[in-house]
Amino acid sequence: MLQPIQSEPCPRCGLEVNVRQSYCHHCKDVSNLESVFLRKNYKRQIYKQNRRLRRIFMMLTLLIGAIVVWLFIG
Ligand SMILES: [Zn+2]
Repeated sequence: MLQPIQSEPCPRCGLEVNVRQSYCHHCKDVSNLESVFLRKNYKRQIYKQNRRLRRIFMMLTLLIGAIVVWLFIG
């Protein structure tokens, strides 16, 4: 049976790493300082994605609200 690839955040850089891999391919060649920067960038990326998701959610709410109003008027 084929198992789905399981990934966990690397304790060093925070990026997703295959659990069966003994090393993290994201930060195996980088220094500790660079791994900190990697981690920060990753968090910022997640923050940006969340903001985009929130905007999409808001647009959907507005759209549904508009449809409800349209249904009541029409
Ligand atoms: Zn790593």
